[in-house]
Amino acid sequence: MTDARDLPLSAPGQTPRRVMTIAGSDSGGSAGLQADMRTFAMLGVHGCAALTAVTVQNSLGVRAFHEVPTDIVAGQISAVASDIGIEAAKTGMLASSAIIQTIVATWRSEGLDGTVPLVVDPVCASNVGEPLLHPNALDAMRDELIPLATLVTPNLDEVRLLVGIDVVDDTTQREAARALHALGPQWALVKGGHLRTSQTSSDLLFDGSEFHQFAAHRVDTPHDHGAGDTLAAAITAALAHGYRVPEAVGFAKLWITECIRAAYPIGRGHGPVNGMARLLR
Ligand code: PLP
Repeated sequence: MTDARDLPLSAPGQTPRRVMTIAGSDSGGSAGLQADMRTFAMLGVHGCAALTAVTVQNSLGVRAFHEVPTDIVAGQISAVASDIGIEAAKTGMLASSAIIQTIVATWRSEGLDGTVPLVVDPVCASNVGEPLLHPNALDAMRDELIPLATLVTPNLDEVRLLVGIDVVDDTTQREAARALHALGPQWALVKGGHLRTSQTSSDLLFDGSEFHQFAAHRVDTPHDHGAGDTLAAAITAALAHGYRVPEAVGFAKLWITECIRAAYPIGRGHGPVNGMARLLR
């Protein structure tokens, strides 16, 4: 699949594929749950949401966040799983180890582990560096959630925090992919977008035996808020449509590149990638 027009969309009145994001809200509408839901809608899937935290933010940064109580996080996942059904899911900002442990326990108790593809975007900080995950929650992310993942999608800062490897070139990117895969996910995607020394943005996918590389010409823009979320949400939608991980990642890479090319300024700080880019054609 190379084009969103190839997605097997549902007919009018027919139930679309159902996906879930487990993520934080961005009041500025650029990242987090808002970016995920926008991407899901653009890709023809029904997006459900388990809110983990409410952030107070705009284009200039995150001013504060409030965590959702763990029973409410668990309740949102269970309510959807037991009625609407989930065909693929992703996680974004999870804030604390208590929330991560709740998600892991609920994922298992609802019988989703091993049956529903789960994309873990291990969000640790905003794009300008404000923490979105308590530092003491890294262990739960690494040891409890990532092993349940079909795919984990860290950027280079998250790679450093999770496996202690500084990716500076192809060799260290491979080393990082191996180390991440050793944590237990089925696939690891080491995103190279933050490696600003290169003219290409190259992401490396690894399943323990084979490497797949996805490269795009680097787009130089300050407006990249929500890029990680949009990529992971597009992968999730493609998985729900029945694509295998390498094809889903290949599609999502084309999708995010188009969104980055059409990124727009908003407010006085960093604008978002344009999740609606496809509508502009
Ligand atoms: N989730 C929330 C609620 C956020 O506020 C952010 C960044 O600010 C993210 C996720 C990750 O954003 P990005 O896709 O830019 O890495």
